Amino acid sequence: MFVSAIIAAAGRGTRLGADEPKQLVEIGGVPMLQRTVDTFVRAACVNEIIIALPPDVAHAPPSYLRHRRKPLHLVPGGVRRQDSVANAFARVSMAADVVVVHDAARPFATEALISRTVEAAYESGAAIAALPASDTVKQSSGVGEDPTVDRTLPRERIFLAQTPQAFRREVLRDAIALARDPAIDVTDEATLAERAGHTVRLVAGEPQNVKITTANDLRAARGTVFSEAERALVRIGTGYDLHRLVEGRPFILADVTIPFEKGPLGHSDADVLCHAVADAVLGAASIGDIGHHFPDSDERWRGAPGLDLLARAIDLVRCRGFIVVNIDAVVIAERPKLAAHMPAICSNLARALNVAAEAVSVKGKTNEGVGELGRGEAIACHAIALLTKK
Ligand code: MG
Repeated sequence: MFVSAIIAAAGRGTRLGADEPKQLVEIGGVPMLQRTVDTFVRAACVNEIIIALPPDVAHAPPSYLRHRRKPLHLVPGGVRRQDSVANAFARVSMAADVVVVHDAARPFATEALISRTVEAAYESGAAIAALPASDTVKQSSGVGEDPTVDRTLPRERIFLAQTPQAFRREVLRDAIALARDPAIDVTDEATLAERAGHTVRLVAGEPQNVKITTANDLRAARGTVFSEAERALVRIGTGYDLHRLVEGRPFILADVTIPFEKGPLGHSDADVLCHAVADAVLGAASIGDIGHHFPDSDERWRGAPGLDLLARAIDLVRCRGFIVVNIDAVVIAERPKLAAHMPAICSNLARALNVAAEAVSVKGKTNEGVGELGRGEAIACHAIALLTKK
């Protein structure tokens, strides 16, 4: 199957209130059009891409529309959407079995949705992505400020059309032939295909595949993606701790006491896990380590449980605007076996870190009898923490 994609990007997008065409506006540092085109470049089922652009943009295209891995043609758009699609259709390869049309203003469609829609069109002639209506739908013939309801439509029979919309080549050809009529002005290609007498199948659309039309839509879209600057605010840190194991000390990890003949030596509960995780968290925020913030020379911290110090370390990074994304740790001890205690350990850590249980991972490991750790003279822990700006 040979698939051509048409991206309708010729609109001026005046409802957005921006100076430039809305498809060139950035979302999270990437122009909306680039996001849309990139998805079609990645989509394995698409063989070529034709983009209808405002004429001035088509003549001086942005760099991300050049040097692509796939044939990519730029055509000037027309006055109406259907004119732009007709211009693009004229460039579609003769080899095309299916043509899929998509709005540049829907930058969050997935490759899976494109593929589903194309497959359905190949089978049935025409298929569009659509979502079932979730609100109750009222019909009104009224105009003005407070029109009145004529009737309530059965919601289960209402679907809201999205793009992609895919057609066998000859179906779209028939649809575009109708669209030449100056009296016909439609907002999607499926309407034309229906009028040309073709059956149009509904494919399950995607809730996140929103069309960005107003300044409000743009604000919401920007809220869903990390900008480059925000991505730079994802921070990683590493921590390490070791304590000698001696007789007559309790063996404590994250406030869980594990029965064993020895325990780690230290002023406090000498909890290697909490100490290593706290250092990883503080390190990710570049604000030193637990020795600096909670010196055991200070009476306040002498003997403080490791889990308390960890919770205090979290307070310190939160004051600087960070929250924990996840942590991962390896506890190295020849004995005792830790597996049975891991659920309680992880749940205590998650509480102190203020994260969900899935964001915490702790693994137990032996040292294969090698060295001090292998002889059971010490216990050690390596930890890594990821933080982000809240
Ligand atoms: Mg320690």
